[in-house]
Amino acid sequence: MSISQLNFTPELYQYIQKNSLREPSILQELRAETAKLPAGQMQIAPEQGQFLALLIKLINAKKALEIGVFTGYSSLVVALALPADGKIIACDIDARATVIAQTFWQRAGVATKIELRIAPALTTLDELITHEAATFDFIFIDADKANYIQYYERCLKLLRTGGLIAIDNTLWHGRVADAADQEKITQIICAFNQHVYQDERVALSLIPIGDGLTLVYKK
Ligand code: SAH
Ligand code: CA
Repeated sequence: MSISQLNFTPELYQYIQKNSLREPSILQELRAETAKLPAGQMQIAPEQGQFLALLIKLINAKKALEIGVFTGYSSLVVALALPADGKIIACDIDARATVIAQTFWQRAGVATKIELRIAPALTTLDELITHEAATFDFIFIDADKANYIQYYERCLKLLRTGGLIAIDNTLWHGRVADAADQEKITQIICAFNQHVYQDERVALSLIPIGDGLTLVYKK
């Protein structure tokens, strides 16, 4: 290990949480509620949510898009970070988990900023491309991994120049670096990472936060 790298011990992770995490109580509650579900671990990490909120403020985002809502944690993070006249279109196929999402968006007072679209995300993205290409400031991709490259390509069309795409799970529990891992999904994530790496239309950074978060800036 070189000196520019950190050894991510549980103690260090705890230190980061104790000394930088400011998770609003409504998000804490949603996290607790989601933890009761069998797929509860699909949610982004709290410090990752805080990081996304910071990025949204930094780029002054007003119009956002999310692919993969689940119980609405990341959409709520985005909606809370957007200005009062901001808007996020949130895509998912799960009409059940998103009922929880809608309840929390309402309780947080940001439901009017969020437009939920229940349909396969590729369909919603194709609809958006016809009228709203190059209008989004910020996009978060966190749905089915098999479609990541297709989501990415459509999202680049939807994003304005200078806009930001964040893609979740790009380190896949660290398995992307395990040459012996033969799982299809690991290979899918590796192929996606290569796709973005070779894409000259964007600047990128792969951040080791949560399960790996790739940031893509459209030149
Ligand atoms: N971003 C969420 C977690 C998303 S989990 C959070 O941080 O809380 C992934 C979601 O992708 C699931 O809710 C699943 O229903 C959704 N999904 C899977 N396939 C999809 C598709 N084809 N179109 C839209 N959403 C899809
Ligand atoms: Ca995820």
